[in-house]
Amino acid sequence: MGKIKRIGVLTSGGDAPGMNAAIRAVTRTAIYNGLEVVGIRHGYQGLINANFKPLKASSVSDIIQRGGTILKTARCMEFKTTEGRKVAFENLKAAEINGVVVIGGDGTFTGARLFNEEFDIPFVGIPGTIDNDIYGTDYTIGYDTALNTVVECVDKIRDTASAHNRMFFVEVMGAEAGHIALYSGIAGGAEAIVIPEIKGEADNLKEKLEGNNRRKKSSNIIIVAEGDETGGAMALAEKLKPSFQDYDIRVSILGHLQRGGSPSATDRVNASRLGVAAVEALLDDQKSVMVGLQNNEIVLVPFRKAVKLHKDVNRQLVDIIDILNV
Ligand code: ATP
Repeated sequence: MGKIKRIGVLTSGGDAPGMNAAIRAVTRTAIYNGLEVVGIRHGYQGLINANFKPLKASSVSDIIQRGGTILKTARCMEFKTTEGRKVAFENLKAAEINGVVVIGGDGTFTGARLFNEEFDIPFVGIPGTIDNDIYGTDYTIGYDTALNTVVECVDKIRDTASAHNRMFFVEVMGAEAGHIALYSGIAGGAEAIVIPEIKGEADNLKEKLEGNNRRKKSSNIIIVAEGDETGGAMALAEKLKPSFQDYDIRVSILGHLQRGGSPSATDRVNASRLGVAAVEALLDDQKSVMVGLQNNEIVLVPFRKAVKLHKDVNRQLVDIIDILNV
């Protein structure tokens, strides 16, 4: 302890509601512990361009309730190269920044891990991505808000689907992970979900929906994760259309509205806890680790594990969708 006098904080990869709450928590925890704080703008690009600005306690007032990220985020190709990371290191050294908190997903942590293998400025990560697909934490910042946004949309779709006897294919985010689809499927009372973790589901789907047809269900909602092998909601709807002439088939792609909006209370609380924990980890001389939440307790997970291991969906919850679709 005592080595760290000034820390940097950045957001990287896809934006997620609650990132601002995490920036606020990092900034204020650092100041509480007598450290100076520098905001790094536009993710790793800001490290390469030395796009730094000092943050005071008041710089982060009135942001806990806002979506997006006041520091902006970006995808940065240069940081993937050793030369790029060397420039980042020189810039950090020149600005006398002795530790960095990165808020992002898998890619962000991969970059941070490489940096920490090469240079001696410690990086600590906070999981921030709406997909909730990071191994080692039950929860990522933004997931709860995105999930609630999706459920609100599904409820609205249900109203119109029931009124018209419609079958809706609703596409939600999740390029490689079905967490949003699974949870919104349960919470929205979906008849079925189609997610990348479960292969061959499109074939079972026809049978399931035929059963619903026989039972004269007045509406069907199928939640499809965008990254599923079927090619998404549009392709799946086209494929099934000929078999379901009685239903009016519609597709709704929720898209980027899932990323925006004011963070939920859960996201704000968890982002605050993780922000405090990340600064404390730096003060405890940790590096190359992510702070996470497991069973509602703070844990430290090496970047190496967080990026290498896959976080599966809860298979018991997948069964619930079928049970409740009798
Ligand atoms: P999300 O899950 O929301 O997409 P992410 O952090 O995974 O978030 P990426 O775009 O994959 O988003 O990564 C963010 C940034 O991390 C990249 O723009 C790049 O600068 C850095 N990064 C990603 N992969 C690597 C890598 N293999 N080596 C070094 N840096 C990387």
